[in-house]
Amino acid sequence: MNILLATQNPHKIAELRAVLPEGWSVQVPSDFGIVGELAEDGSRLEENAAQKARFLWERTGMPSLADDSGLEVDALFGEPGVASAQYAGPQRSDADNRRKLLDALGSSLNRTARFRTVLAWATETGVVLAAGEVRGRIALAEKGTQGFGYDSLFVPDEGDGRSFAEMSLSEKSALSHRSRAVATWLALLQKS
Ligand code: IMP
Repeated sequence: MNILLATQNPHKIAELRAVLPEGWSVQVPSDFGIVGELAEDGSRLEENAAQKARFLWERTGMPSLADDSGLEVDALFGEPGVASAQYAGPQRSDADNRRKLLDALGSSLNRTARFRTVLAWATETGVVLAAGEVRGRIALAEKGTQGFGYDSLFVPDEGDGRSFAEMSLSEKSALSHRSRAVATWLALLQKS
């Protein structure tokens, strides 16, 4: 299988590669001369993932897999959600986003949250969606230096108290929203 990943984010690429079946060949938009962020102007993860995958399929004719993910914090009524990347503003700094989240929660004990990934798979037969999620808590302060985005603030319920940023790639993949979405998508592919 030869697929195109509809993302320029090296962390997402590494995490997706790590859970795709062995032997699959993975290309990225820059292999086709497509640079910069892909447009995502929907109000739901599903719309954004489908938009990115469909765009690349139409541009390249390669089966394309897009990932749109968000962090949904219960005490913030699901925010930042689909706006996770621009939570602190359009400049998209992960550090600013994390700081804003810590400020928004203050010392609240209500810190439950979930990460959700929606994958969209675009081919000549249309777009197929698959989702995955992981529940956890927002830490009181950043912990760890690995990973990206909100990883240093997210402590999964099924883990041992470490944040995603304190885990290796394979440890995060064993629990993550992204790897769960990939498992669901691969099961759908096998059925079809
Ligand atoms: P997008 O899916 O690229 O739009 O990402 C939305 C936002 O969520 C960005 O700020 C990412 O850094 C963050 N994000 C997405 N996936 C993860 C993850 O697995 N861990 C931590 N942050 C993530």
